[in-house]
Amino acid sequence: MNTSCQSCLMPFSKDPGKRESDLYCSYCFQNGALCYKGNDLKEFQQACYKGMVAKGMNKIAARFFTFLVRFAPRWRKAK
Ligand SMILES: [Zn+2]
Repeated sequence: MNTSCQSCLMPFSKDPGKRESDLYCSYCFQNGALCYKGNDLKEFQQACYKGMVAKGMNKIAARFFTFLVRFAPRWRKAK
């Protein structure tokens, strides 16, 4: 069973929203589709980073979690 988002690696236990998918968190997957449909890890990371900072996370922590995104199953094959 998945315990964290396959796209951004956020642990589901930390997800404040209501998940629609067993694979993705409530940020990555909304209204029946992935929010970021592209295939560009850097672009996705930028969006994650902005989202985290916008939610009040401090920038050092946001940068760390953004770095971890590359290890998510969704992106592992891209590199
Ligand atoms: Zn996610």
